[in-house]
Amino acid sequence: MADLSLTAVEKHFDGVPALHSITTRIEDGEFVALLGPSGCGKSTLLRLLAGFETPSLGRISIGEQEVANGDTGHTIPPEARNIGFVFQSYALWPHMTVRRNVSYPLEVRGLPRQARSEQTNLALEATGLSEFADRMPSDLSGGQRQRVALARCLVSDPQAVLLDEPLANLDVALRAAMQDVFLDFHARTQATMVYVTHDQAEAMAMADRIAVLERGRIAQFDTPQELYARPRSRFVAGFVGEGTVLPIDQIRQEGDNLMAQFNQTTVAISSDSAQPNHICLRPENISLSETGDMRCVVQRCTYLGGHYRLTLQGPNAENLIAESRFYHKTGEQLGLSLHQPWAFQEI
Ligand code: ATP
Repeated sequence: MADLSLTAVEKHFDGVPALHSITTRIEDGEFVALLGPSGCGKSTLLRLLAGFETPSLGRISIGEQEVANGDTGHTIPPEARNIGFVFQSYALWPHMTVRRNVSYPLEVRGLPRQARSEQTNLALEATGLSEFADRMPSDLSGGQRQRVALARCLVSDPQAVLLDEPLANLDVALRAAMQDVFLDFHARTQATMVYVTHDQAEAMAMADRIAVLERGRIAQFDTPQELYARPRSRFVAGFVGEGTVLPIDQIRQEGDNLMAQFNQTTVAISSDSAQPNHICLRPENISLSETGDMRCVVQRCTYLGGHYRLTLQGPNAENLIAESRFYHKTGEQLGLSLHQPWAFQEI
């Protein structure tokens, strides 16, 4: 096991920057998700850690060992980094049985037959594949193939496992089941895991911390709870948990409360900044009431099982998301009360 650290890492493709001066550290044994929209640099960052790309500038270390240095050109190839990879495409050998796919890394290392067989059986058992050991990959479902890829990582006992959208090819129900398989794998191995996804629910469900990437930069690197409760930029507030971000017109202190004025409404806010300039409204900050401070019009009402999700339009045409136990018609006027939303300072 090992921590992964990047110091001032940049990656340019034909002079165009894909990553800008990334300095960060992934702790030993952590499960980290790299989350962000298409093209923000997630896969590039993962490929740099793997050694499939080399940094244009900056340094990457795995544990104590420097594995890439863009300034000197020094680089250690992927096969010498003791890292496991799990790809969207599974990358299994089609002509080998499941058992042989899993045991192959041990064969390459020259492990004796008995030890190889024991370790392979343990990995097959841990990933629920024992009964499929003699099948060919083509006779497996997508979820089972991904388990083979995980079992192959497990036998290799890597320092870290890098996963590039491993569930992207699977249907929704299987994705949820596979999340448990990954969590179980992590608990069992305590390997450092870096998981690329553009699906925030997936990142939130599994990761200890999430690095949210925006146009080649880490916008925020925090626990899922912190990212949701205390976003530090408009981008993160909007991308994680569908927050509505509104600019604050004025701030004033009233006793112990910090009050924000926006849209002719004044509300007590939570903030760790003395001069926040935006608030982030989550559904739990909004309740519907006849006498609410803010008037809104229902745009859409969607049943989510047990409650409805309301898309509302506020007085300045802003979109807000609220939840209700009751159905509301499109065009209906509602009053909203706001409860202590989070506010941040975006420079
Ligand atoms: P996605 O979710 O769509 O896979 P991503 O966040 O993983 O996107 P990257 O694949 O890392 O994004 O790409 C980041 C940027 O670098 C993009 O603008 C992409 O076009 C560019 N890029 C990536 N690989 C190359 C390459 N080999 N040559 C040129 N440009 C590249």
